[in-house]
Amino acid sequence: MKRKLSKRDFIKLGLAGMGAFCMQPPVFGKALSNIILPKENELWKWSKEAAYYVNTPKGVKCKLCPQNCKIEEGALGDCRTRLAKDGKLYSIVYGNPCAIHIDPIEKKPLFNFLPESFVYSIATAGCNLACLNCQNWAISQKSPYETRNYDLMPEKVVEETLAANCKSIAYTYSEPIVFYEYVYDTAKLARLSGIKNVFVSAGYINEQPLRALSKYLDAANIDLKSFDNDTYEMLNAGTLEPVLNTLKVLKEEGVWLEITNLIVPSWTDDLDGIKKMTDWLFENGFQNTPLHFSRFHPDYKLTNLPPTPLETLAKARNIAIEAGLNYVYIGNVPGSEGQHTFCPTCKNRVIERNGFQIKSMHLENGKCTNCNTEIAGVWE
Ligand code: SF4
Ligand SMILES: [Zn+2]
Repeated sequence: MKRKLSKRDFIKLGLAGMGAFCMQPPVFGKALSNIILPKENELWKWSKEAAYYVNTPKGVKCKLCPQNCKIEEGALGDCRTRLAKDGKLYSIVYGNPCAIHIDPIEKKPLFNFLPESFVYSIATAGCNLACLNCQNWAISQKSPYETRNYDLMPEKVVEETLAANCKSIAYTYSEPIVFYEYVYDTAKLARLSGIKNVFVSAGYINEQPLRALSKYLDAANIDLKSFDNDTYEMLNAGTLEPVLNTLKVLKEEGVWLEITNLIVPSWTDDLDGIKKMTDWLFENGFQNTPLHFSRFHPDYKLTNLPPTPLETLAKARNIAIEAGLNYVYIGNVPGSEGQHTFCPTCKNRVIERNGFQIKSMHLENGKCTNCNTEIAGVWE
């Protein structure tokens, strides 16, 4: 017997006549004079032996992320950035970013970490997931052979960050896990110059490389895309458990953590699922970890869906606050009450924002100026 289409199915299939309002793909990369358009064989210049792989009788096996790709000689892994050659595995995006920007830290989003500071932000091509809604698909779902890249080795990233007066470097936009070796070396060097390191990621990484990198990370924003494994598989080509483990490991390692949950209509807008997720966060000690509910805009393979209704975002935020989470934000909605930081004790606004701009701060030495409650975060 055929199942009747529910309202959710109706929306998911794009039958609701919402129209496909297609956003332009983002434009990446500032106009540097040394733009390089590599030919395939020239990418070899930006290769570095991968840090995590083993040889098997069937070829090399990458051990960096839970996809654990088995890669035949001459082929790339799922993320399109790791090449098997002569029985070894190489990253082919080392020092080879396709996007370079200077952003406000609030854009990452990090709201309880060095507010009003600027962050030097880099990305290479590639990603180990394949989210149907990806907003950065123009670089994340490509190999470095298909993007316009820059020649920017770790030393140069640090130099440019200092010259631009940025307090931190963000490894962001696509998926920094796939340019792990580049992140690791840059972060290590940046530390020596007093620059902080920010990891903006979907958190789909194996524990050993994550622990090693955590030593050099100061902050992370991790996407928790849903709280349902089937949804993770169908929407993102990943699984839930490794992401939950990443959250726990980053917390244990003392990295300042914020979490983003993008609410995609008909896919991840189930309020029971959001309740399960926020209960889990509370029970696992994340009550002072900021949680950003982010508004979906139609993109990539989901242009048939409408943007997330504001009401859904407000309901999700209330559920999280009722679960006991202290810092719950709403993202991609300028003017929302959910863009401010509230003191968990007196409920006053301690940081007022207008989009990525800070309007006022009522914090002194990280404490609410009204009631002296400590506000969780990194403030200097
Ligand atoms: S990092 Fe890339 S090559 Fe390695 S397992 Fe993950 S997707 Fe595969
Ligand atoms: Zn207060």
